[in-house]
Amino acid sequence: MTTTPEGTPTTARHRAPGAEDALPVPAAAGSVAEWTERYAHAVMDTFGPPQRVLVRGEGVYVWDADGTRYLDLLGGIAVNSLGHAHPTLTAAVSAQLGTLGHVSNFFASPAQIALAERLVALADAPEGSRVFLANSGTEANEAALKLTRRHSGGARPRVLALEGAFHGRSLGALSLTHKAAYREPFEPLPGGVEFLPFGDTDALRAAFAEGGDLVAALFVEPIQGEAGVRSLPPGYLALARELTTAHGALLVLDEVQTGMGRTGRWFAHQHPHLGGGVRPDVVTVAKGLGGGFPVGGLIAYGPDVAALLGRGQHGTTFGGNPVASAAALATVGVVERDGLLAHVTALGERLRERLRSTGNPLVREVRGEGLLIAVELTVPVAARVAADALAAGIIVNPCTPTTLRLAPPYVLTDEQAQPFVDLVAALRADLAAEETP
Ligand SMILES: *Cc1c(COP(=O)(O)O)cnc(C)c1O
Repeated sequence: MTTTPEGTPTTARHRAPGAEDALPVPAAAGSVAEWTERYAHAVMDTFGPPQRVLVRGEGVYVWDADGTRYLDLLGGIAVNSLGHAHPTLTAAVSAQLGTLGHVSNFFASPAQIALAERLVALADAPEGSRVFLANSGTEANEAALKLTRRHSGGARPRVLALEGAFHGRSLGALSLTHKAAYREPFEPLPGGVEFLPFGDTDALRAAFAEGGDLVAALFVEPIQGEAGVRSLPPGYLALARELTTAHGALLVLDEVQTGMGRTGRWFAHQHPHLGGGVRPDVVTVAKGLGGGFPVGGLIAYGPDVAALLGRGQHGTTFGGNPVASAAALATVGVVERDGLLAHVTALGERLRERLRSTGNPLVREVRGEGLLIAVELTVPVAARVAADALAAGIIVNPCTPTTLRLAPPYVLTDEQAQPFVDLVAALRADLAAEETP
């Protein structure tokens, strides 16, 4: 403990990192080609070769090791909600790390507690709701799956999820993820999961009509992100709530991609047309929560659900880490302070409209909510278009063969987005022909 000149004891050391503390940064040297070569030797090949090696970011732009600038319309896959190197987030993380960087979960920190309180408040969750803090979306969903296993003392073996669902890659979360290529190499997976056709209310009714009381939980994303920014049809979540309630099952909403302001509300299910009025039992968050710092969480609605995971039944060394919690608090704080939810809503609407009004015949549809946007093409050339965009200095994601996904920072402006609108306007109709070998 130190003492200020006024004699006030303080344990904080809020000190900007000084040049005298810095270690030499190896990343300062090397071209993209050199780093890519080194990557191939040192980093496991689970992602394929990196598209570029990036060294710096500021706002909605990033720079690669050759000094080339890119407009980042993917935001680290819906993560960098405040853009890159946001001063408030940087200051919050530095201050927390310079004060108290980590404690085990034998102890708590004010940042962890304040973040849990904030999440409960933003979710409009009732009295007695509680939060489990984790480090990623996968971990949040893993915790949710474990929680649902404990429902009715473990007497409900069925878990429902939707076709096209993406809930993560650990074995539990993977058991809820639909894509065969992700699942099959790792079978057997935890059992009991049944996949229902996406958005199909008859199939949902049928799933509960027989053995409905054996359903522990229904897991859904209000908008499926990885599957191509697909919104559940209006009324689906209301029916899901009705059926889960009738059969005593839990309704779990995976808002890892759609939560924390991405769609213009704190949570996508708060939109009237997506699920307004529906109160879930569990909501999971991650991606945009920490503005780029790894952090995830599970919100359990009400005391009964919150009690399903009891003492000793789940844990994590890093979850609730003070630095991650401070990052999340700062991110939420900036979204509120700067009115970013309204900006996300208005900019998202304008951007979709501008993309539509290019009138390019290669564009079948432009859809999405807030700043989670899909440009659906008439032919399967999304990968080619994304590669061309990258070469032209714009980062977008071909999340299906026909879909370009945008999940840019909330601080994006109309002017900054214009190069992408121009690119879509200029897409050539003969791209399709070029694709055929
Ligand atoms: C990204 C994502 C996950 C997995 O999150 P990670 O942080 O990558 O583990 C889970 N659910 C949804 C809906 C996602 O978009």
